[in-house]
Amino acid sequence: MILSERNGGLSADDVILVVEDNAGDARLVELMLGEAFGREISVLRAGTRAAAAAHLADSAVTCVVLDLGLPDADGVDTVRHLAAWAPAAAIVVLTGADDAATGLAAVEAGAQDYLVKGRSSAETLGRAVRYAVVRKRAEQTLAHAQRIAHLGSWELDVGTDTMIWSEELYRLFGFDPGDPPSLAALLSRIHREDCAIVEGAIGASRSSLTPFDVEHRIVLPDGSIRWMHAQGHAHRASSDFPVLVRGTVQDVTAQRLAERALAHQALHDPLTSLPNRALLLDRLTQGLARLGRDGTTLGVIFLDIDRFKVINDSLGHEAGDEVLVAVAHRLHRLLRQGDTIGRIGGDEFVMLCEGLTGEEEAVAIADRVGHAMTVPVRSGEVVVSVSAGIAITTSPSVTAETLLRDADAAMYAAKRAGRARSAVFAESMRSATMARLDTEVSLRRAITNGELRVHYQPIVELVSGRTLGHEALVRWQHPEQGLIGPDKFIAIAEETGLIVPLGIWVLGEACRQATRFTSDAHGAAALTMSVNLSGAQLGQPDLVALVAAALRDADLAPERLQLEMTESVLMSDAATTITILRSLTSLGVRLGIDDFGTGYSSLAYLKRFPVSTLKIDRSFVDGLGTDREDAAIASAILSLADALDLSVVAEGVETPEQRACLVELGCLRAQGYLFARPVPASVAQDLLDAEAGRDAPRLTIVGAPALVCAPVRDAHLGI
Ligand code: C2E
Ligand code: CA
Ligand code: CA
Repeated sequence: MILSERNGGLSADDVILVVEDNAGDARLVELMLGEAFGREISVLRAGTRAAAAAHLADSAVTCVVLDLGLPDADGVDTVRHLAAWAPAAAIVVLTGADDAATGLAAVEAGAQDYLVKGRSSAETLGRAVRYAVVRKRAEQTLAHAQRIAHLGSWELDVGTDTMIWSEELYRLFGFDPGDPPSLAALLSRIHREDCAIVEGAIGASRSSLTPFDVEHRIVLPDGSIRWMHAQGHAHRASSDFPVLVRGTVQDVTAQRLAERALAHQALHDPLTSLPNRALLLDRLTQGLARLGRDGTTLGVIFLDIDRFKVINDSLGHEAGDEVLVAVAHRLHRLLRQGDTIGRIGGDEFVMLCEGLTGEEEAVAIADRVGHAMTVPVRSGEVVVSVSAGIAITTSPSVTAETLLRDADAAMYAAKRAGRARSAVFAESMRSATMARLDTEVSLRRAITNGELRVHYQPIVELVSGRTLGHEALVRWQHPEQGLIGPDKFIAIAEETGLIVPLGIWVLGEACRQATRFTSDAHGAAALTMSVNLSGAQLGQPDLVALVAAALRDADLAPERLQLEMTESVLMSDAATTITILRSLTSLGVRLGIDDFGTGYSSLAYLKRFPVSTLKIDRSFVDGLGTDREDAAIASAILSLADALDLSVVAEGVETPEQRACLVELGCLRAQGYLFARPVPASVAQDLLDAEAGRDAPRLTIVGAPALVCAPVRDAHLGI
């Protein structure tokens, strides 16, 4: 494009359209344009609005010089139509001699300038066209920028109550380019609920000339809703000038949606999309605040999936997630209007029920939850059950945290009572929770202060009573409460992870003791040492190295160490579990299954895991001699072991009848109070010595008290 200096931005490529029905006037305008811009500029002529429309459709017109008095069009409206047809063209209007008002109206309708006919010269027309084009281009640049920013602008003349809208405002509000701008039209798009805010803001700005800044929604003709950020301010040039209000409107829907998504993320659990702990506590607080007015009851039901860890460990995390989502769906379906269900921890869900008639209704809901869980998930592969704790209140002065904690304590009570059931909170449960916390704190201290002891229970040859080895069983020498058995603290140690340092300490202690035991009777080097290993220890990445180190430090032959694990620990048969167990056996260590018969007892895993011993659980030994079923189970375990070439130890043998029965079934080894209770190392040594001093096979029953408070040597923690 060759730009002519003289033409100030207009070149030979530019086209000027003269719209004038009077041929003489049209000719005059053409001459003036020729004089102003030179011959190279193209000038088209139209005598009617229709002819003008045809030209605008055909060629890129830079500027329209428009006479408002056309035979087929009516004044200012023509400007609006031309502006809509050719949004890029500048418009200069020619008006009658004493019709300045029309000229102003034309500018408001979209013309860039106006001239009074008969009073214009080539120079004034040339300048008007040039400025109109420059202004139009600036407007277009602005419109482009507005489009990019989704920013519309408007101007309201309060005196005449007329408005100007930018192109982008038309687009944002879903108006057609020809629609006449007005405040009423603009307000008609505003969301009903936001109308008052917007009208109030503009009204206040008009009267007190203050800026405004509001966010509101608009409803587009297709019914969709967009979020707008509207800003503006009113001003007047002097006291007798009418007030002008100018404003911008920006489409902030995208930001709004992003903000909402963020807010949703902050308050919801990503896996199930249920409210998280923070949101649940908030709803609970609100629910509590509403209490007292209508005398209704608010209930919190704390739900925990039973044995979720087993599902997760045995089927994998993906399956675990699937189960959680399925449970979330079921809980959601049970919700009544206005209730909330949230996920506040791994496998912990909380239902918040308002407007209850009382405790019975909460219990009924918990029962429905329990029932809904009986349908298997994952195409029948998994059946879950939940334990539910219920806490209710009618008082708004209870805090959300307290109610949640009470429901949690009740849930623990339900678990203790055997799982898959619900329990209603009672004061005594709170003290149980406190006691648990207390135990955790003092157990930590016990580990570092060396308050733990290891006792040893002989494992004997059933027929002769000869000691074959020992099982190491931990005890806690509590400074105030005396000697505490593992049943009181192992579960807590497992839940808190304290089992890891505790277990390693027991292992080191037991290995050292194994090398200290001396036996003249049959050579101490033959005595085995059994140590219990809990599930959490298998998750310890350096377990194999720690076991190897314990053997080395104690100088103990690996074959003498036997690690006992329960079936549920083995069930978590993630590939890593097998790898760890293989590494342990490759050290030379033996593995045994504890409490056999109480868990899944499947042949499949017995074959898969490198175990060498089964321990028949005490509960089956109990009924031997009286209960035929127990005898059948013990017999089945013995033949299973025989087939798989595993050795068997019967646990908890207390009576000669049980012993006789086991001998008859072909069981070779046993452990139990009939032979000896777990005792401190020194007592265990005394027993070995006594055994050596006897010629005949020992049949004496060693009746040490269940838990003896005996001073123990070497009770120092290696951690
Ligand atoms: P467990 O491994 O099944 O240990 C056998 C339990 O049966 C011991 O209870 C033992 O004292 C008891 N017992 C032995 N013979 C008889 C009997 O004739 N009659 C009766 N009624 N009971 C008998 P204890 O010492 O209270 O240990 C309980 C559980 O605590 C153990 O069960 C084991 O699971 C766990 N435990 C003990 N020490 C440790 C440890 O160092 N690490 C880990 N992870 N768990 C341990
Ligand atoms: Ca054991
Ligand atoms: Ca056992």
